[in-house]
Amino acid sequence: MKKGRAFSLLSGGLDSLLATRLIMDQGIEVVGLHFITPFFGYQKKGQEARYQERWKELYGIDARIIDVGDEYLRILRNPRYGYGRNFNPCVDCKIFLFSRAKDIMEEEKADFLVTGEVLGQRPMSQRRDTMRIVERDSGTEGFLLRPLCAQLMKPTRPELEGIVDREKLLGITGRGRKPQMELAERMEIRHYPAPAGGCLLTDPEMAKRIRKFFNQSPQATVNEILLLQVGRHFQLSEDQHLVVGRREEENERLMELFREGDTLLRVQGIPGPLGLLRGRADEEGLRMAGSIVARYSKAKDQDRVEVHYGKDGETFPGRLFVSPAGEGQISGLRF
Ligand code: SF4
Repeated sequence: MKKGRAFSLLSGGLDSLLATRLIMDQGIEVVGLHFITPFFGYQKKGQEARYQERWKELYGIDARIIDVGDEYLRILRNPRYGYGRNFNPCVDCKIFLFSRAKDIMEEEKADFLVTGEVLGQRPMSQRRDTMRIVERDSGTEGFLLRPLCAQLMKPTRPELEGIVDREKLLGITGRGRKPQMELAERMEIRHYPAPAGGCLLTDPEMAKRIRKFFNQSPQATVNEILLLQVGRHFQLSEDQHLVVGRREEENERLMELFREGDTLLRVQGIPGPLGLLRGRADEEGLRMAGSIVARYSKAKDQDRVEVHYGKDGETFPGRLFVSPAGEGQISGLRF
């Protein structure tokens, strides 16, 4: 066979691992591309080396982790092919990720791209006609190889040019997982994430919150999307958004996501939630935020609670006294 080099879109799920390995097992060099956005894969941000080592150790795959969060937000604002059941723009998402992969492939003079897609596995994005649209719009026609279902598709350039042996590719179709499980067993791939899941845009509750936020703030930033994923949310007014941590890790996350202009609040002397007020910190807003933070603290049954606040992300020089908010005061503010 002719020698070749490929990039594989590695979602981290079993199908993309199998597809990558099927091509590697033909003696072809494959590098995995794992794209991350605030909606999927973002826990790897800052931990790239650890995940890369893990993939190499578990599956023998070399991979790069690439943050495309900012660009992805633009797609989400106005997807040409619309949204799926939740806030998931699957067709546009694939077009975007495939075209990013294509750019890398061209820059590095590789021969083709690999994906773990299986014909008929997903209702919208893995139908034959949609797969064609994705290829056409991402400019990957002819060199996008789907090893798991390639026998059911037209031969691609690497097959026709003798880089890939089509006979060794598969013809898996549909939603069943059995053929993939058997193949994983044969390849001794034992640790892999559960199928589906992993994309917050398909999570009904989170998708609802993200959609609502996007409708109000079409220019939403990565920081804002990450903040939506932490704690309890309250909209105090059009330009005042409060987030209250539910656990110690969430309090820490709020500190990390703090940005200039935010105000942090906490109940004095009692361990409990941290509040992050984003937007105008006028007296009324601070009092309301303070009383909501107090409601979720161990001081919730006291009449008068001292709340400290600060605007530098570290110190809490401001003081105010509030009564913990009752359910009636906050039910209409939940976001
Ligand atoms: S489920 Fe999420 S990551 Fe997957 S194609 Fe759809 S939008 Fe993209």
